[in-house]
Amino acid sequence: MAKYKLEYIWLDGYTPLANIRGKTLVKDFDKFPTLEMVPNWGFDGSSTKQAEGHSSDCVLKPVGVYPDMTKTNGAIVMCEVMLPDGTPHPTNGRATIHDEPDTWFGFEQEYFLWKDGKPLGFPSDGYPKPQGPYYTGVGYSNVGDIAREIVDTHLDICLYAGINHEGINAEVAKGQWEFQIFGKGSKRAADEVWVARYLLMRLCEKYKVDVELHCKPIKGDWNGSGFHSNFSTKYMREVGGKEYFEKLMAAFDKNRNEHIAVYGPDNHLRLTGLHETQSIDKFNYGVANRGASIRVPHAFVNNGYKGYLEDRRPNSAADPYKVASRILQTINSVPTK
Ligand code: ADP
Ligand code: MN
Ligand code: MN
Ligand code: MN
Repeated sequence: MAKYKLEYIWLDGYTPLANIRGKTLVKDFDKFPTLEMVPNWGFDGSSTKQAEGHSSDCVLKPVGVYPDMTKTNGAIVMCEVMLPDGTPHPTNGRATIHDEPDTWFGFEQEYFLWKDGKPLGFPSDGYPKPQGPYYTGVGYSNVGDIAREIVDTHLDICLYAGINHEGINAEVAKGQWEFQIFGKGSKRAADEVWVARYLLMRLCEKYKVDVELHCKPIKGDWNGSGFHSNFSTKYMREVGGKEYFEKLMAAFDKNRNEHIAVYGPDNHLRLTGLHETQSIDKFNYGVANRGASIRVPHAFVNNGYKGYLEDRRPNSAADPYKVASRILQTINSVPTK
């Protein structure tokens, strides 16, 4: 038997953006616990905007257990929030995702490392050199002194946790970075993005650095941050076809506002038509077009309109649960014959 430190994490009820919360449960196990072994737990919802004080108990229902490299016998327990009667709490976006084991999502999380009110590596007065050398850059004047250590350590911690990272890169603005997570199953990549965000924020504490998820934290000629959402259903990968694709895009066009509503706050500051974006009030798609709402990869067309598509509109602060849920709702409104 050993004492395991289980960090239960969940999303609170703040709007427009939920915060990640966490607290530790110590429990005896004779091996690293599986999902079946970790119990439901509870918390005071009146402190997280999830309940009134007179009836404040909310339930934490574990949905994934991830080894925590930074602790002896540590685990992160990702949870969804339930009401005491066992139904999903209204703030529980995960529960609204249609459960589809054969639907795949790949999310590209862009973000800024943030210190003293500005991107990590910005001078104390004014601005650094304009954008150009930072994207995938190397060298102290491009990436600074601690960013590399943070992003590389984060990658190691995530891989150890079993998160399916596909890669990381320095982004276009100074202090801006990206990681990509892919998952099979309609909820998996979204779960892993939340765990990866949590691990990044926690890692950054000791560097006195924050993770800035706002989509346009610096005004002017500096890129904003996106959360490109790549998706494919089994039907899209195996049947597809031009006719189905065009119906799908018509459904995305029709539901443009419903999509934008869950694609992250302040997106009008980012979706301007500049900096590789389409403007917020337009919907279009284009082959290999990074200025489109939806980018259609060359391979998709070459394979007879089969494969995955990239929705470029979600922003860095978007809740992956709400994004996945909305994309699937629109896809499932289109008949597949
Ligand atoms: P780019 O920056 O050019 O848009 P990235 O390599 O950063 O490309 O991201 C491409 C994303 O597409 C990855 O996150 C990957 O997981 C995802 N992806 C690839 N194939 C599929 C698929 N069949 N279904 C869903 N997502 C996919
Ligand atoms: Mn990318
Ligand atoms: Mn990018
Ligand atoms: Mn992309």
